[in-house]
Amino acid sequence: MRIKLDRTLCDGFGICAKHAPEYFSLDDWGYACLKGNGEVPEQDRDAVMRALLDCPVHAIIEIPTPGSAAPAADPAATTARS
Ligand code: SF4
Repeated sequence: MRIKLDRTLCDGFGICAKHAPEYFSLDDWGYACLKGNGEVPEQDRDAVMRALLDCPVHAIIEIPTPGSAAPAADPAATTARS
């Protein structure tokens, strides 16, 4: 998986650095910085996903990559709403 961090959204709760310290560090003010280029190998996926899901301001975003198993839109769900 590949992730990005939107530092403009970060509120400095520090949860990401607690869950996945290999991928997030905190600056002097407690705001998160992404370590590395955002590429997350499969073995670290769970820890990074926990950080992503627990971030209160949704500042961590998964970037779909070609060939990734990103959830496809369900055409039945969109037609059922009409
Ligand atoms: S969990 Fe979210 S708000 Fe908290 S430091 Fe990390 S990116 Fe910022």
